Amino acid sequence: MIHIQLKQGKEQSLQRFHPWIFSGAIQKMDGTPQEGDVVEVTDALGSFLAVGHYQIGTIAVRVLSFEPVAIDQAFYDMRISEAFELRKKLGLVGNDHTNAYRLIHGEGDRLPGLVIDMYNGTAVVQMHSVGMYVQRALIEEALRKVLGDNIKAIYNKSEGTLPYKAGLDPHNAYVWGTAPEEMVALENGLKFAPDWERGQKTGFFVDQRENRALIERYSKDRKVLNMFCYTGGFSMYAMRGGAKLVHSVDSSERAIELTRDNVKINFGDDPRHDAFAEDAFKFMQNATEDYDLVILDPPAFAKHYNVLGNALKGYKRLNTKALEMIKPGGILFTFSCSQVVTKEIFRTMVFSSAAKAGRKVSVLHQLSQPADHPVDIFHPEGEYLKGLVLHVL
Ligand code: SAH
Repeated sequence: MIHIQLKQGKEQSLQRFHPWIFSGAIQKMDGTPQEGDVVEVTDALGSFLAVGHYQIGTIAVRVLSFEPVAIDQAFYDMRISEAFELRKKLGLVGNDHTNAYRLIHGEGDRLPGLVIDMYNGTAVVQMHSVGMYVQRALIEEALRKVLGDNIKAIYNKSEGTLPYKAGLDPHNAYVWGTAPEEMVALENGLKFAPDWERGQKTGFFVDQRENRALIERYSKDRKVLNMFCYTGGFSMYAMRGGAKLVHSVDSSERAIELTRDNVKINFGDDPRHDAFAEDAFKFMQNATEDYDLVILDPPAFAKHYNVLGNALKGYKRLNTKALEMIKPGGILFTFSCSQVVTKEIFRTMVFSSAAKAGRKVSVLHQLSQPADHPVDIFHPEGEYLKGLVLHVL
């Protein structure tokens, strides 16, 4: 195994268990590691600090363990077992109302570079690092061993998430088991048909489960506008909560198709729902309906700090428009899933939007990601989803 020695003083963040080592922190390496190799990291005096996956880029090592352990089958068995035990504690395993949940949330489950979502027994695996991809057979074996009867198939969907330059040429495919006859998963008793083969991310956004449940409580007799609806998650809860009308909007035709299918499997041909494949800004500009519950759940406008300024302009324009158009007494659910937009920045942006729209606004709830997307306390970057529920007069 190749050893990487850090510059003096650069061991401090590792001693506080932060799981990333930046390339600038490296003093020397006793060889040339390949991207994806397991490497051992020491301080300037040669004392052990961590083991992790080597990467080419700003983040040079993603730490797998702060103990000198082998990164082998037993390691993945243990980590995946710990993650599964946590999901059991959260009541997400073996119940009759929810079988879509996140099993592995990268750093939050001490497996940086790995995301696994479960959909009624199908594990959809997304690898974001070459190291994880190289060790995929160990991960697949661990999943089968640990989950036992709770797993029926494994679909690897890493085609779009691995570094292009690594030249691994991965193909999205079932690596164990086959496609289920019926691709339907349950979330709080509602049915969804996640399309992991053609859909975005792993096919569904499991991270909004609890926030969607909150929408249900606010929906009775309201006219609901669900912007950036994707598969219509929020719309389904609004319908069940007794909304008078629900409009779902997404710029993707495919998303609108999925939303319509999901409405159908839950509510049949319910005339309260309509869906529009349109640009969000355009739709809001031309809207004539007096909505009194609006949801804004846009994609991550900022993926890096260097585009934060422009992203904030986008968020502000969107939120200002929603605040201008919402009926007095209305409720706005507004989110950002950009990791670089902190809670504080987000709140300031909403504050500016409210001032610009000239509306009286109070905060009713401050929302985040659910417990199956845990945040390692030493890795605050893992907290990415934030939302506010606002009362707008
Ligand atoms: N609220 C969804 C997740 C939203 S993901 C859920 O609960 O599952 C973001 C969505 O925004 C994607 O489906 C994407 O197609 C859509 N989108 C991106 N840019 C858009 C735009 N300018 N106007 C409308 N929709 C857009």
